[in-house]
Amino acid sequence: MDERFDVAIVGAGPAGISAACMLADNGVKTIVFERGEYPGAKNIFGGVLYGHDLAQTVPDYVDKGFPIERNIVESRLWYLSQSGGYSVAYRDQAFFQARKFNAFTTGRARFDRWYAEQAKAKGAVLVCSTVVTDLLRGEGGQVIGVRTDRPEGDVFAKVVLLADGINSPLARKTGFRPEPKPEDVALAVKEVIALPEEVIDERFGVESDAGVTIEILGDVTWGMNGVAFIYTNKRSLSLGIGANLLDFSQQKVKPYEMLEAFKQHPMVAPLIKGGKPQEYTAHWLAEGGYDAIPRLAGDGFLLAGDSAMLFNALHREGTNLAMASGRMAAEAIMEALGSGDLSRNGLAGYVRRLQSSYVLKDMAKYRRFPHFLQDHKELFTTLPGLASLAAREMLTVNGIPKKAKQRTIWEAFRRKMSIRQSLRFVWDAWRSVR
Ligand SMILES: Cc1cc2nc3c(=O)[nH]c(=O)nc-3n(C[C@H](O)[C@H](O)[C@H](O)COP(=O)(O)OP(=O)(O)OC[C@H]3O[C@@H](n4cnc5c(N)ncnc54)[C@H](O)[C@@H]3O)c2cc1C
Repeated sequence: MDERFDVAIVGAGPAGISAACMLADNGVKTIVFERGEYPGAKNIFGGVLYGHDLAQTVPDYVDKGFPIERNIVESRLWYLSQSGGYSVAYRDQAFFQARKFNAFTTGRARFDRWYAEQAKAKGAVLVCSTVVTDLLRGEGGQVIGVRTDRPEGDVFAKVVLLADGINSPLARKTGFRPEPKPEDVALAVKEVIALPEEVIDERFGVESDAGVTIEILGDVTWGMNGVAFIYTNKRSLSLGIGANLLDFSQQKVKPYEMLEAFKQHPMVAPLIKGGKPQEYTAHWLAEGGYDAIPRLAGDGFLLAGDSAMLFNALHREGTNLAMASGRMAAEAIMEALGSGDLSRNGLAGYVRRLQSSYVLKDMAKYRRFPHFLQDHKELFTTLPGLASLAAREMLTVNGIPKKAKQRTIWEAFRRKMSIRQSLRFVWDAWRSVR
């Protein structure tokens, strides 16, 4: 390709397409490379997307037919032991009305495709089935374009945006992001289970365009630092489970076996009963938090989204951070193009924008959270059983006085955790989220 572009974007995920929308909207000559046959062809995620950041690039997304499965009106949190578990739920009328599409479920194959169409309509060039294999460097080492796997596939651009996701050899080639450490990455598996719409409505207590998310902690991850989820789509459920890669490698657990066991859990099995498995996928998640974020701007290039390790594990926010960082990268690129300074200094507006936005503020707030999970495995080992024992004892009506039950619970607790350990747990938990 002889043509020169202002900006070359690697990856047509939420980060890359958000940047492309904004750049193309402002007349910046932009090309997006996507290795999949079409955007979303190779992408998976749990399923929850957020309206706020989408509206910043496509304000009229509802009228433009964005592919929604269900509008999320209720969020549940489960803490499970082997035989049972706690459930906390929050449903609000606001999510049916004024805050509709605060969060909604969608499928990546449909959403990414639709989103990329919006960028194309604004004037961005999208090239699919093309892998960017390297970054082209100028004499001073600055990035001046990309090398693709097409014949004569070098494309020159004033700025390159790496929005190529968590598994990014290109980010490693910049020297900014080494191979992610196993403790900074989770491996998740997901299965989509088809069920009739009315069955989902009934089992989750919703009407057909409303949906529910369930985030699950406990010993479903077999003592490893991990999480599971169940999200409602229109005519299917997305079930997933994942754990820290370091834990997986140490415990020699097979993710699909853990998923199968999760599906048998007494609180999960009735929700998926009679369902037909449709697809099964596995993917990495960026879980290192703030401390795993690499340098974000170099001479002639920027990193956004998962490539920049932007993921808020506590709130299950990844796509919105990807969209917000893509947008802010686009703003900083336009500023740099205007000033003619495409060096790291000229592109530093990107980092400033991220720092003053919720993206890095939230990541910094929860900086200790990944360490808390990794250091306090009792959350996934002893505590689920103890928490269940407490509830089971107090709810069982068997003639034993409640004081005696309290004593049994307390003794069981003390056998597993010392006062010192318990205080450390509570203190670290508080510090990780304050
Ligand atoms: C199991 C799981 C569940 C999740 N659940 C949620 C959720 O419910 N809600 C949420 O907000 N987030 C969730 N996330 C996180 C979310 O998926 C990511 O944070 C988000 O997709 C990041 O967007 P991105 O654009 O940075 O990267 P990606 O979505 O990974 O997109 C990168 C794109 O780049 C392309 N690409 C990669 N390398 C190249 C190359 N060399 N050349 C050309 N193209 C390339 C890829 O094909 C892909 O299309 C989940 C993640 C996983 C794994």
